[in-house]
Amino acid sequence: MRVLIAGVDGYLGWPLAQHLADQGHTVFGIDGLMRRKWVTEMESVSAIPVASMSGRLEACRTRHGKSLGFSEGDLRDPNVAREAVKHAKPDVVVQLGECPSAPYSMIDAEHTVFVQTNNIVGTFNLMFAMKELAPDAALLKLGTMGEYGTPDIDIPEGSFEVEFRGRKATLPFPRSPGSWYHLSKAHGSSNVRFACSLWGLRATDVMQGVVYGVTTDTTGEDPQLLTRLDFDSAFGTAINRFCCQAVIGHPLTLYGGGNQKRGFLPLQDSLRCLTLAIEQPPKAGEYRVLNQFAEVYRIRELAALVAKVATRLGMDATVNGYVNPRVEEEDHYYNPDHQRLQDMGYVPTVDPEAEIERTLLELRKHGDVIHQHSNVLVPDIQWRGDRKRAYTVKKGIDL
Ligand code: NAD
Repeated sequence: MRVLIAGVDGYLGWPLAQHLADQGHTVFGIDGLMRRKWVTEMESVSAIPVASMSGRLEACRTRHGKSLGFSEGDLRDPNVAREAVKHAKPDVVVQLGECPSAPYSMIDAEHTVFVQTNNIVGTFNLMFAMKELAPDAALLKLGTMGEYGTPDIDIPEGSFEVEFRGRKATLPFPRSPGSWYHLSKAHGSSNVRFACSLWGLRATDVMQGVVYGVTTDTTGEDPQLLTRLDFDSAFGTAINRFCCQAVIGHPLTLYGGGNQKRGFLPLQDSLRCLTLAIEQPPKAGEYRVLNQFAEVYRIRELAALVAKVATRLGMDATVNGYVNPRVEEEDHYYNPDHQRLQDMGYVPTVDPEAEIERTLLELRKHGDVIHQHSNVLVPDIQWRGDRKRAYTVKKGIDL
């Protein structure tokens, strides 16, 4: 298949491009290289060094024996989206090209407006370009499990049957996002759903859990083929940040009580799921929602697991409790469905220990980089707007 990946330079996009190339697909990528700038703005760097885009493309050609088409551009410009679709002639467009950070969207009005416009406008431009130039292509759009929030009932995959005043209907499940970023994803989901009913667009909207780890089947030995891994409090996600902290002996930063539950999956699982969704596209006009995660964990369970594996590897891993910078439920019911991808062939990784160990071993090579930027390891973006470092409430928590 011909696959256009928007956001190909990102944490998921770069390994997905290689995974698809390895499976025999023809891959084109587009990216504005903005993630690199956002992390610099947070006064941080990726723990895993990131090569220039030309270096990445050259390494990919050497490893996989074929070139990856790439163009640099900002999807907020409709002509950039049109040119990318015109050139790639895709069977599938994978939309990863959005700003993925909840904390970044909560910094101030400027960042809120940027995240919402970037995420909504870029996807609109891709959808309109597809309507005009590739109307039979399928859209695979990344949403997030965070769109649903943490309601006190089970979470279905996208829609559910309701009975109200004697009448029954199948309706979109209510979205209760917990940040301006998550709201941008919920708005995006409504827009994609509407385009399916309006134009007959075929689309998969992936409600993805938190992805962790760096290893994949396809990266081989060349470090330029590895994906990035961020640890600052805006772009570092839970397990990845815990691993970076453990590597340099910094206490793991547990927000609040740590009983918040979320769905997680290793990077390799994410690539497998996205490939299944690409290779089994929805019908014309179908809006398909897939909840994509391996298992649900409490955040404190994951901190304990990272600390356990790190200790086994001789690292000095402790856990400190911090005042939660977010506004979120800390003790809640959480039971989302995630059967559809398994019906399509996904076998979830239910034991995260091996991936955490591989991640710690890879990161240990870059401990000096994390050390040099260790001031970003404690969160400083408060959901209610002030920019100040969270303070410790409990040191050396025994999990
Ligand atoms: P990422 O920031 O590493 O990748 C996104 C890429 O898109 C970046 O390289 C960025 O430069 C590019 N981009 C953003 N806006 C653009 C624009 N207007 N024009 C061109 N390029 C643009 O993020 P990621 O972690 O790879 O996430 C990819 C997608 O998956 C995002 O939509 C994110 O919301 C979603 N997601 C990620 C996770 C996770 O744990 N990583 C979990 C759930 C959902």
